[in-house]
Amino acid sequence: MVIERTLAIIKPDAVGGGVSGEILARIHKAGFRIVAIKSLRLTKAEAEGFYAVHRSRPFFADLTTFMSSGKVVVMVLEAENAIARWRDIMGATDPAKAAPGTIRREFGSSIQNNCTHGSDAPDTATFEIGYFFPGVDLI
Ligand code: GDP
Repeated sequence: MVIERTLAIIKPDAVGGGVSGEILARIHKAGFRIVAIKSLRLTKAEAEGFYAVHRSRPFFADLTTFMSSGKVVVMVLEAENAIARWRDIMGATDPAKAAPGTIRREFGSSIQNNCTHGSDAPDTATFEIGYFFPGVDLI
């Protein structure tokens, strides 16, 4: 198994709802190493840059307004198979369709306000990690 890194975000709904600690506890229990972590509020333009791949989707404006509506916690997580494992722990995009026990099922409230983000492939993980931690030595 290859050690991988992924970008995880605790979204504004979860930070505002006071469940960041519970989500961080799950990250620790699942055995991820937190390589880097910071809390910030994205501007609308920064959210648009992060989600540029979704620019043509009908929900792009709503999504980027939501992602810039409050503070987020952004992390680089490291583990074997980190990308797929973090997505398994988050659950499906739509909390209503996510498996019982997953973070999105327990803490998400809609397909948009689904409490966490995780990179979906190695190339997107590289882009997303660089987007938030540019030029930083992640050791
Ligand atoms: P993810 O990889 O599971 O996060 O899902 P996607 O890459 O398909 O979508 C990115 C993010 O856009 C999701 O996490 C949601 O916050 C949001 N999103 C996805 N589908 C919809 C939708 O149909 N409507 C709205 N409003 N937001 C959506």
